[in-house]
Amino acid sequence: MRTEPVSGRLVIDLAAIQTNYRFLCSIAAPAPVAAVVKADAYGLGAVAVSKALCAIGCQDFFVAHLNEAVAIVPHLPSAARVYVLNGLMPGEEGQCADLGVIPVLNGVEQVENWARLARSQGGMLPAVLQVDSGMSRLGLSLAEASAIAHNKPLRDMLDLKWLISHLACADERDSEQNLHQLATFRDACALFPETPGCFANSGGIFLGADFRGAMVRSGIALYGGAPTSGGPNPMTPVVSLTVPVVQTRRVSTGAKVGYGGAFQADRPMVLATIAAGYADGLPRSLGDFGAAWLGAIRLPIVGRVSMDTMTIDISHLDPGTVGLGTQVELIGHNSPIDAVAEAAGTISYEILTRLGRRFRRVLIEAVSPPPSANSQSEEELRL
Ligand SMILES: *Cc1c(COP(=O)(O)O)cnc(C)c1O
Repeated sequence: MRTEPVSGRLVIDLAAIQTNYRFLCSIAAPAPVAAVVKADAYGLGAVAVSKALCAIGCQDFFVAHLNEAVAIVPHLPSAARVYVLNGLMPGEEGQCADLGVIPVLNGVEQVENWARLARSQGGMLPAVLQVDSGMSRLGLSLAEASAIAHNKPLRDMLDLKWLISHLACADERDSEQNLHQLATFRDACALFPETPGCFANSGGIFLGADFRGAMVRSGIALYGGAPTSGGPNPMTPVVSLTVPVVQTRRVSTGAKVGYGGAFQADRPMVLATIAAGYADGLPRSLGDFGAAWLGAIRLPIVGRVSMDTMTIDISHLDPGTVGLGTQVELIGHNSPIDAVAEAAGTISYEILTRLGRRFRRVLIEAVSPPPSANSQSEEELRL
């Protein structure tokens, strides 16, 4: 009998994503929570994540590119709304409208292109307007937003669903910039009194009711990342990663370890080489800073991270504890994504979105809510 090849195991807990969604809903209420599922749901699988969230009532999904919308729309119920944060490139408007996807219009040209399509189709098209409240990344300036607000023929072509903007420092509770951006966003909202505002990302949800608007957009917190820097993370962990040991060895004082001989043993050591490297999304910057874990025992990474492997110090383990095929933890209970990110000098977003395709992905199934009287009758209607 053939067994499956041994590899790293990336466990993605869809039920934990649902738990996080419900927790965010409880804080944001009465504002609904939209799920940000761009970059394949931060690397975790946009289709599976979106379906799990639809099952518990999420109806709004943000992606970055039209391509990403194309990938998830067929898997979602028709009531789900999908928005494209980066907006549309010239020529994409028809496909977007045909799919029933709602573009975020970030500039005057995108607004004009979308309105032109609407006019040619003989009616309004749904759209989201983004204003730049102080990040200088995407969105209309206040002056541009004002010009659009006062251009009746243009406005008449746009069924504006939301006015959105994005916070640059939402994870920093005390940042002055949050207040400046909120004031600018309020000025923009005053230009579109009939359009609800949608402002907060994960961090913004925790900045207080003023920031939450009529809908919030959460990405990282759904996936277990800390929405706010410093302090305890209120979210439930979603991802764990274990990888197998592929070799162990004893080395003498003076032995060099890894590329560049960048680490040199200052004592006799026992080392293990494990099957994950930068090609799997573990940053090279983890070398000499990160660690693997065996239970609660920390096994420091020594020397540089290679493409397919890295080397850890297991000198302090009882001999024979670790051998060929032993799985050690790189992300999990002892090593949350924010701690891994910090050791690598980056953020949890980058760790998640880079986790590679060589790991065996194991999904912990989402929980479907028990059918209520209502959903049963819907089921019957469909039959
Ligand atoms: C990525 C993104 C989000 C989600 O941010 P998180 O910090 O992951 O919650 C929300 N809004 C916009 C415009 C984004 O680009």
